[in-house]
Amino acid sequence: MPEFTEKIQQSMLPHIRGLGIYQGVEPVEVMAERAGIPQDKIIRLNGNENPYGPSPAVAEALADFPNFNHYPDPEQRQLREALSGYVGVDPDCIIAGNGSDELIDMLFRMFVGPGDNIINLTPTFGMYSLGAEICGGQAISVARDEKFDIDLERIKLAITSLTKAIVVCSPNNPTGNMPTEADVRALLDTGILVIVDEAYYEFSGQTLMPLLHEYPNLVVLRTFSKWAGLAGLRIGLGAMHPDLAGMMMSVKPPYNVNLAAEVALIASLKDMPALLERVNAIVYERDRMMGLLDAIPTVSPYPSQANFILCQLPEGSGPKVFEGLCNRGIFLRHWSNG
Ligand SMILES: *Cc1c(COP(=O)(O)O)cnc(C)c1O
Repeated sequence: MPEFTEKIQQSMLPHIRGLGIYQGVEPVEVMAERAGIPQDKIIRLNGNENPYGPSPAVAEALADFPNFNHYPDPEQRQLREALSGYVGVDPDCIIAGNGSDELIDMLFRMFVGPGDNIINLTPTFGMYSLGAEICGGQAISVARDEKFDIDLERIKLAITSLTKAIVVCSPNNPTGNMPTEADVRALLDTGILVIVDEAYYEFSGQTLMPLLHEYPNLVVLRTFSKWAGLAGLRIGLGAMHPDLAGMMMSVKPPYNVNLAAEVALIASLKDMPALLERVNAIVYERDRMMGLLDAIPTVSPYPSQANFILCQLPEGSGPKVFEGLCNRGIFLRHWSNG
């Protein structure tokens, strides 16, 4: 390879040059090799994926679909119609994304420029700060309290004239708890764009979607990655005021959601009862696991409304437990506040 020239490096935007790499989930082959364990023995818990996989109807629908040589509909007509039936808001309030990650990215590209900031309620999902930084903006971290509830007073103090959005993950990844509706209303009353990420809605059963009728500055994000087992096909949705959705349609890459994802989504929505039964099974297992973890004297699990559980371990033992489980083929995520 020729040397990467100074000139090229220098011409890259400074905030891009300084970016870190997002720690995503690794392919199962990589995990298997690391643990020295066959692929089918690997237990992947670090992506909050669906262990049941997609609906069996998905493979059939993909096999039968005749038009993969066509581009997807840039206006997402059929897709928005189907999503509208699912979330209960008009199709012109909805945009489908290549995963909800793409919608986070598009929203920040619309609102956050160099020097601007977003408010991030930490600890939380890593894509929000990364998305803001890619736009040259900054993520201002407002720490949650000791129960990981959001702290309205601290949030209000952190808001500046350059604050373009407040991101509220509900239930929050990785803590599993939810904000109260009253707290989110208070954030919406600031008039700033409030993005409520409901990636785990189907596990919590609680949504702020109905508030769209009251607040033009609310965006609700959902994904089919977790409950419907479509993480690998990449499809999520944003619901928002129709004027904002209209503007977002012009920012959107024309063919952002591929036809396989669209076909899979429509097949999944037709198979909702079976998929929701799996969600119930996961919730049941979550609560059973919670009891088992709670019975270990050194482990303190936090109550969760999602499909994962955050546990506190004795000071300094986290990395050892994490590594020990990795070596046995059980992959988790770890955080430290030190
Ligand atoms: C998994 C996750 C997403 C990503 O969803 P995709 O639709 O797969 O991009 C978004 N937000 C949170 C909080 C998540 O945990």
